[in-house]
Amino acid sequence: MKKFDVAIAGGGVIGGAIALELSLAGKRVGVFDRQQPGQEASWASAGILSPAPESPAMIAMVPLGKMSLSLYPEFVAQVEEISGMSTGFRSKGTLEALFSGDAKAELSTIIALHHGLGLKAEPLRAADARELEPALSEDMEAAVLRPDECSVDNRALTSAVLEAARRSGAEIFAENGVKAIWREGRRCAGLILQNEKVEATWTIIAAGCFSAAIEGVAAYAPLRPAKGQMVALRTDDVEIDRVLWGEHIYLVPRNDGRILAGATVEYAGFDKRTTAGGIEKILSAAIELAPGLANARIEETWAGLRPDTPDHLPILGPTDMDGLLMATGHFRSGILLTPITARLISEWITEQRVSVDWDRFSPLRFQAEKMEATKKMPV
Ligand SMILES: Cc1cc2nc3c(=O)[nH]c(=O)nc-3n(C[C@H](O)[C@H](O)[C@H](O)COP(=O)(O)OP(=O)(O)OC[C@H]3O[C@@H](n4cnc5c(N)ncnc54)[C@H](O)[C@@H]3O)c2cc1C
Repeated sequence: MKKFDVAIAGGGVIGGAIALELSLAGKRVGVFDRQQPGQEASWASAGILSPAPESPAMIAMVPLGKMSLSLYPEFVAQVEEISGMSTGFRSKGTLEALFSGDAKAELSTIIALHHGLGLKAEPLRAADARELEPALSEDMEAAVLRPDECSVDNRALTSAVLEAARRSGAEIFAENGVKAIWREGRRCAGLILQNEKVEATWTIIAAGCFSAAIEGVAAYAPLRPAKGQMVALRTDDVEIDRVLWGEHIYLVPRNDGRILAGATVEYAGFDKRTTAGGIEKILSAAIELAPGLANARIEETWAGLRPDTPDHLPILGPTDMDGLLMATGHFRSGILLTPITARLISEWITEQRVSVDWDRFSPLRFQAEKMEATKKMPV
């Protein structure tokens, strides 16, 4: 029987980064993926590193996002050094273009909201924004510059993280799907694969939006997939330096000259097909934001599944089963939250304490909600 200090279900960027951190801390780590690792959400993502909340529900995550962003330069430097691979990290800021008739009011609301959350944001006149990013539409009324925000080539990052974990001693098993957690009373003794058991002192579930299908996990991680379609464009006529946000779109420049455009948010089960309607929406919004893209070549289209949770917040930390932890449900921010997730899980396993209050993200919150709802049911 295979035996580890730590067994991880799922080899996306989250499982990979945890494996790296714990291997560096001297733990014997095994990562089990049901296919080749790194081919799901971590591959499909846009790689924007922005702690700004996309909805009021996500405000609770801002401190975690800020902390993770601040860890990024050190994190990518370490990953690149150990793996010998590049991650395409760009720290050029992001720029949000405003088009509404009432852009002035919208601008001051956005700036106030960011400053209230301790996030840097600068108002820009349309002409100044176009000086920074000449590709932006003439119809833009104003803009917001978020100078601290970054991006990373998530495919390159995920490959580099997995390689760095391997080189640091983690064993990564592809085509080794996890069927269930191995329960022994109130303790989790490891993982149950298709034909064998894996014994571990600590077991971590990091299987993205598929985590709930692992027997014994759904109560802690009631996830559902949120599909996102993406397009990669290439053109010599348009130069974009930083991530650009429009009302319904973002554009992400990569070091290799590609410009990614995305993304839809669809609740369509585990379906990863791209659709005419989805791609049409992305392309028309992209051309509205940067009209020169109308002549760009379409290099690739794809879709991926974000791990969404009932409150859209990640699921992090210990459960009520000894030895069992969750590191999943990162929804739209898993690339951003990778360094802090790896840091916190590693702190818990090596020191049984964490440097940041993570109770808000506890895997036990869904059971508490259920009990509350049952109490309120009329008799
Ligand atoms: C279109 C799109 C755009 C996005 N844009 C951004 C962005 O700009 N910024 C950002 O921060 N985040 C973004 N995200 C979100 C981010 O990509 C995810 O939150 C993050 O990649 C989740 O990583 P993960 O390792 O938890 O999951 P995944 O990358 O999905 O990895 C899960 C792994 O578990 C494996 N697995 C599944 N079931 C089993 C099983 N039973 N046994 C063993 N292994 C199993 C899978 O094969 C996979 O390798 C985006 C996501 C999408 C889809």
